Amino acid sequence: MTKFIFVTGGVVSSLGKGLTSASVGLLLERRGLKVRMQKLDPYLNVDPGTMSPYQHGEVYVLDDGSETDLDLGHYERFTSSPLSRSSNYTTGQIYQAVLDKERRGEYLGATVQVIPHITDEIKEAIFSQAGPDIDVVITELGGTVGDIEGLPFLEAIRQVPLEVGKENCLFIHLTLVPYLKAARELKTKPTQHSVGQLRQIGIQPDVLVIRTERPLGRDNAEKIALFCNVEKNAVIEEVDKTLSIYEVPLGLAENKIDRLICDKLQLPPASCQLDDWKELMNNIRHPEHEVTIAVVGKYIEHRDAYKSIYESIDHAGFSSKARVIVKRVSADELEEEDPELLLRGVDGILVPGGFGMRGIEGKIRAARYARERQIPYFGICLGMQCAVIEFARHAVGLDDANSTEFNSETNNPVICLLEEQKKIVYKGGTMRLGAQPCTLMEGSLSAQHYGQAEVSERHRHRYEFNPEYREAIEQAGMRIAGANPDSGLVEIVEVENHPWFVAVQFHPEFHSKPLAPHPLFQGFIKAALDRRQDQVAVPV
Ligand code: GLN
Repeated sequence: MTKFIFVTGGVVSSLGKGLTSASVGLLLERRGLKVRMQKLDPYLNVDPGTMSPYQHGEVYVLDDGSETDLDLGHYERFTSSPLSRSSNYTTGQIYQAVLDKERRGEYLGATVQVIPHITDEIKEAIFSQAGPDIDVVITELGGTVGDIEGLPFLEAIRQVPLEVGKENCLFIHLTLVPYLKAARELKTKPTQHSVGQLRQIGIQPDVLVIRTERPLGRDNAEKIALFCNVEKNAVIEEVDKTLSIYEVPLGLAENKIDRLICDKLQLPPASCQLDDWKELMNNIRHPEHEVTIAVVGKYIEHRDAYKSIYESIDHAGFSSKARVIVKRVSADELEEEDPELLLRGVDGILVPGGFGMRGIEGKIRAARYARERQIPYFGICLGMQCAVIEFARHAVGLDDANSTEFNSETNNPVICLLEEQKKIVYKGGTMRLGAQPCTLMEGSLSAQHYGQAEVSERHRHRYEFNPEYREAIEQAGMRIAGANPDSGLVEIVEVENHPWFVAVQFHPEFHSKPLAPHPLFQGFIKAALDRRQDQVAVPV
């Protein structure tokens, strides 16, 4: 029988519910359990694919091409739970499904209502994750308790124990206990209120995970237990981690959350194997090298817009025992400023994905600076397209080379739309999305790093390398190091006579894990470290 864990959040948003859920998933897997992770998002968008990175941060893409919430990135980085379209539901998707059924006449004349039709649809989404070989489904509910749009989801999860038995469900509520400087005290009242709200709806949390800047202390923990009607040992403190997010599971394990969950759900006792994770933390704590990478983007002030990129850079750093300092460089600023001013001294330059005109010329300048100064360059999606435009302009001599995304009138559209993309009207879910194969060119840097001839990587873009320019570009010294075996579409370019210049049309950042860094990120960070060491060795 599959057990169900629900993770809700209270008091404020951005408490790290995704990280906590992923950490719980990891701890249960390390006890030998089969886990499925799921996120329910109460907003109305069908998926986050059409939302601005300012609103939503990164859009996380899965193998099956679904565009999902960035918390699914944490799930994949922490657990081995396979994710698919049914791992992330939004209110938009739930309503769309119910309205489609209504149009098909499936409700047989009934008045279609939030309860039971919407809540049934939500429960169906949750139960779709269960199965004979699944021990635990962890469903995280986006938003904060008290949000109007979250109510149908809370009502649905309230009903789950009635269907599958109380003993098979566990409610974890993540809340904040703020420290008030003026009073020099931690305050438990917001937590009491938020649990009060949950109880009004009919949900009694079993476990409270308390996010706090400072240790809670026994008195506060006991007070919270009493006022929130939970057992004392079920008040789990989660103090802010300053070094790395990968500390979170170890902190929760120290506070015995996995044991508590297994006891409450009557899961078989087992020890939690965390040796490799502890070693990882040890590497993070004691780096032997340091390297600086410039990330040139539009949303550099936004913590979450390039989330998986930053994580993947870190993962590669961990495996090289290097602390990676990321210098976030504004692409807009680079359009105006001398690149020397913004990029001097960095050991590697990465241009991530993106959409739209803003900052494009800055990203192109970054690619040029890296190519001409022999600085390791890693271009990802738009970062690859910028590298191709730059190369066409300055190495092939096509002065006005561009992508038709930025100049539809250019005489040299080195990046352009394929015919199938030209007809598209609906913006949501219509890009080239998801896992696609890529055959690597023998002897290329990419083939060396991957150590295999064919790979599969995730995509999210509309525009492509224009094959009409392939020959001219290759002749000038940019090799096509990877292509789609079926369509021939260019997937990877590399600049010859350069220590490390690799640009990819896909998103390798969605395949990197802390204990299994992506080979291209690893290659990039190693090349940056080599450059750093060469620079240090040269007497000034
Ligand atoms: N805007 C480009 C395209 O649609 C690149 C997309 C991306 O970087 N994800 O092709």
